[in-house]
Amino acid sequence: MTPTFSIIAPIYNETGNIPELYRRIKEVMDSAGEPWELVTIDDGSVDGSGQMLLELAQQDARVRPVIFARNFGHQLAVTAGLDYSRGQAVVIIDADLQDPPEVILELIKKWREGYEVVYAVRSEREGESWFKLFTASLFYQLIHRITDVKIPMDTGDFRLLDRKVVKVLGQMRERHRFLRGMSVWVGFKQVGVEYRRAARFAGETKYPLKKMLKFASDAITGFSYLPLQIATYVGFVAAAIAILTIPVVMVLRLVDSGFFFGQASTLIAVLFLGGVQLISLGILGEYIGRLYDEAKGRPLYIVREEPHD
Ligand code: UDP
Ligand code: MG
Repeated sequence: MTPTFSIIAPIYNETGNIPELYRRIKEVMDSAGEPWELVTIDDGSVDGSGQMLLELAQQDARVRPVIFARNFGHQLAVTAGLDYSRGQAVVIIDADLQDPPEVILELIKKWREGYEVVYAVRSEREGESWFKLFTASLFYQLIHRITDVKIPMDTGDFRLLDRKVVKVLGQMRERHRFLRGMSVWVGFKQVGVEYRRAARFAGETKYPLKKMLKFASDAITGFSYLPLQIATYVGFVAAAIAILTIPVVMVLRLVDSGFFFGQASTLIAVLFLGGVQLISLGILGEYIGRLYDEAKGRPLYIVREEPHD
């Protein structure tokens, strides 16, 4: 029997959270009154999360573990979840219980009203460091300003997607993905539901600064050319300054005021332009590297063990 609801939970070293996650999802979903499944993706955990999920699946066939061959990252784990899900409505949720499973019922309510993307908006966040809050807010403002897709502020991946949307996302096989942007880009009837984001139930964040930076650059390069265009703007500005200074230098020279710029100013100009050029090259590299990754056409993720049905 195909379930009506699929819950997708990406899992990276979450042994401390899995039993509680399952317990709460089960409680909530049993009260929704229709068949459901829990698709858990073990994203190369090294703490035995995968084994725990396989055991859980033996007790309850509604739990369907997908075990990755290594760590592919949160966004690809969720992508695999979407690929393996079978429900008419698919809910993406973090495994650390920061997204309270009880909110799923509100998402489902909106879905039943006919919305095809129901995203959860964090009205409050508990137990996050000021650094995380600051960088997150900076990130959302930047994304909002420089991309064409108007990604709602303070939304994560916690959202419900109708099967129609999942199908379209399934056709978008880009490697460096920013799912919350992609699920806005596709259109459809969208609505937000506010919720209080809880603190992590157990364990530490699996998003160190390095992963956060990669996430941010995937989001920006995936949805904007602005970094490339900035190089052009800076080039024009530098050229304009150079042209404007030509008559100034000529006049100073002619009147021989004794005002001499000297070596230091030359050095500054050269270093400044050299810096700008290297930064521009780096930006180009970011886009070219991504192009290269796409051109290779490797699978997005590799599964060691599939769900048994
Ligand atoms: N996660 C994952 N692969 C990773 C990093 C994280 O599947 O490489 C999962 C993690 O287990 C959790 C979710 O993604 O279920 C969100 O991660 P986390 O809670 O660490 O991020 P934060 O809430 O701190 O932004
Ligand atoms: Mg978390």
